[in-house]
Amino acid sequence: MKMKVAQSAGFCFGVKRAVNLAFEIAKKSKKPVYTLGPIIHNPQVVAQLEACGVRAVNSLSGIKKGTVIIRSHGVHPRVMAGLRKKGIRIVDATCPFVTKAQKAAALLKSENRQVVIVGEAEHPEVAALKGYAGPNSVVYNNNHFKVQKKLGVLAQTTLSAGDFIEALISFGRKAEDIHIINTICQATKVRQQDTMRLAKDSDVMIVVGGRNSANTSRLLELCRKAGRPAYHVETERELKAKWFQNCSKAGVTAGASTPDSMVKKVVDRIKELSSNHKMVKL
Ligand code: SF4
Repeated sequence: MKMKVAQSAGFCFGVKRAVNLAFEIAKKSKKPVYTLGPIIHNPQVVAQLEACGVRAVNSLSGIKKGTVIIRSHGVHPRVMAGLRKKGIRIVDATCPFVTKAQKAAALLKSENRQVVIVGEAEHPEVAALKGYAGPNSVVYNNNHFKVQKKLGVLAQTTLSAGDFIEALISFGRKAEDIHIINTICQATKVRQQDTMRLAKDSDVMIVVGGRNSANTSRLLELCRKAGRPAYHVETERELKAKWFQNCSKAGVTAGASTPDSMVKKVVDRIKELSSNHKMVKL
């Protein structure tokens, strides 16, 4: 069986930056060090950081001192203000592309538009974006909402271009005046294109990444849209030999929060599970 790994598989620029910063802070800073939520949607990396003394917490309410690392998804401006008020040291690892989306949300709000964020309401990046877009903003994920005359639209950075266009078609024409800012990050676009290309050329696709990673789930959806059997695994231990039976070409892709070391473990395990493999880098 031949195997190809998507060129863009693994950590993106923003995740690499946030994770490196977290390990650096863990080494240099006096404890306690926290992240608000896991630094990335990958339980294995979060466990490694925990071992270095960086604790992921869900709320900052009990925290009175130390350092808080803001992860690549960014946070609601209210959270930043609260940390400053408490005098807690902030290390901001918000991805610059997410910062760009936050600025876009604030700009659309300043133009007195109803701001629509196309994405998943429960995703932390979107929850933070809402803070910049204002209380009248709406998160659109195929839901109905009352479209106002003046609209401002942006996207969750990891949305697929196809989903953004579909959303614009569904509600955009109801507005009289619309300002659209495409905030999908380039790394996401390239990864999704690579994955689609690879899926079309493979008999089976393996998508590696955390189960709570939105961009990894989107890659799985894309593989299935391409009409290929696709399986989502967090680690190599979940792979099953039967997935590769009667396959001559397998493709491997991975979400933005998947370390290269995990991609390698998955690739090595697929090699073990299938005989006569031949590895090709896209
Ligand atoms: S996927 Fe894009 S926006 Fe998100 S962290 Fe990576 S580079 Fe930044």
